[in-house]
Amino acid sequence: MKNHCLAQAMGDVSLGAFYSMLEYKANWNDRPFVKIDRWYPSSKSCSTCGWIKQDLILSLRVWVCGSCGEIHDRDVNAAKDILTQGIKVLSGCGTQSDTKQKRDEALPLGESMTPEAQPIGSAAGG
Ligand SMILES: [Zn+2]
Repeated sequence: MKNHCLAQAMGDVSLGAFYSMLEYKANWNDRPFVKIDRWYPSSKSCSTCGWIKQDLILSLRVWVCGSCGEIHDRDVNAAKDILTQGIKVLSGCGTQSDTKQKRDEALPLGESMTPEAQPIGSAAGG
């Protein structure tokens, strides 16, 4: 019931508006907000060793890593991967686009790492 209501609520607002609310709440609670690359393969990357299951289909909810043998629930694995990727971005170890996202999106409002950094919102993408 709880998940059903959440899914319906998310369907009621656009994803962009949802991100805005999430970012607002994160800032309000003094928590970092990081958006990872939308194409990051979180469902198909092994959260234990990083191996990627290239042939993962949507209907496959549980899969076994071809490298380390770990058994993954698709959604739990994705959540772990997203957390790990977010921590990498915050620590400066993410990819180039992740680092740009960190600069553009993870800073609290009104702060910037460099004098030439743009204010949050000016570089907002889709
Ligand atoms: Zn693995």
